[in-house]
Amino acid sequence: MSPKLGLEPLCPACSGVNSQSIGKIPDNYHFCAQRFDVATNSGHLWECLECGLWYRYPCFPPKQLIDMYSQQPESVWSGEKGARLDILEIDACLKTYAPSPRLICDIGCFTGDLLIYLRDHTYHDNDNICKPQLFGVEPSEAAAKYAHGRGIEIAGATVLDLRRSDRRFDLVLLVDVFEHTQDTKELFRNCSSVMTSGGYLVVVTGAADSGFNRFWKHNSYYIAMPEHVAFLTQKHADWLAQDSTMILKEFRLIRRNHMTDSAKLKSLLRSLIFLALYSLPDGIQTNRMRIIERLRKLRGRGVENWRNQEDHVLTVFQVV
Ligand SMILES: [Zn+2]
Repeated sequence: MSPKLGLEPLCPACSGVNSQSIGKIPDNYHFCAQRFDVATNSGHLWECLECGLWYRYPCFPPKQLIDMYSQQPESVWSGEKGARLDILEIDACLKTYAPSPRLICDIGCFTGDLLIYLRDHTYHDNDNICKPQLFGVEPSEAAAKYAHGRGIEIAGATVLDLRRSDRRFDLVLLVDVFEHTQDTKELFRNCSSVMTSGGYLVVVTGAADSGFNRFWKHNSYYIAMPEHVAFLTQKHADWLAQDSTMILKEFRLIRRNHMTDSAKLKSLLRSLIFLALYSLPDGIQTNRMRIIERLRKLRGRGVENWRNQEDHVLTVFQVV
């Protein structure tokens, strides 16, 4: 761990004063599909010693984050969820915990790919039950309009809109959402308030507890993405369950993406180059960033790690 900096922030979840810096997150030239000419200050990665949350500080304020998401084109994440391994994990998990939900809500549904997958696969063969009604919450107007055209009822732009309705859901999904929200306590309280007693909340996000993120820490590609501002640990999941009167039923590390052998090899090589560049003294930081930015143009983001690891987590909470 880095030494104390003398400017420890308040934890955005529990408001605790006892956080410590894990390290400076590499600066980045991107926010989702937007590219900046000048690198933004990515802040530090912090660990709250009270509730266990890993979080970024400083970072974009919540309203600015929502505004930036709402401006993203619908192509940013469209089609991505259907090609991912975690969809298979969610499918198996739902068949165990929630085989016949009546009302499902996907918070951050984007264009509705996950809900459509569940409708056509997970709940397709079950002829003994009514098909579940599909609801989504989505801040991007373009994506919400697209989802609506696929038969998904858009219940609002944020989870706060859900609370204005008297609907209660048997199943709420938070897939790739947790990491975008720093007030995780408020998020979970809002979710549990719109769920039925006995209903399930399924959360899929990056796992701060994984060996991958514990090795790379602030240099993890996942943590370095500027739109990612909060990272889940087992300790924080236990804390959230207790705070929102839910039971944590499952906390399981999963692999997010399928990679071919050649992609794994390229990822390993890029990772070694990245490690070498980050081992250079800070005095040549500017040159280092320039080289990494050139590498970024080869593929994706500026930070490269050896991926294909179990670096995500699937958690299941039940309302009591
Ligand atoms: Zn905390």
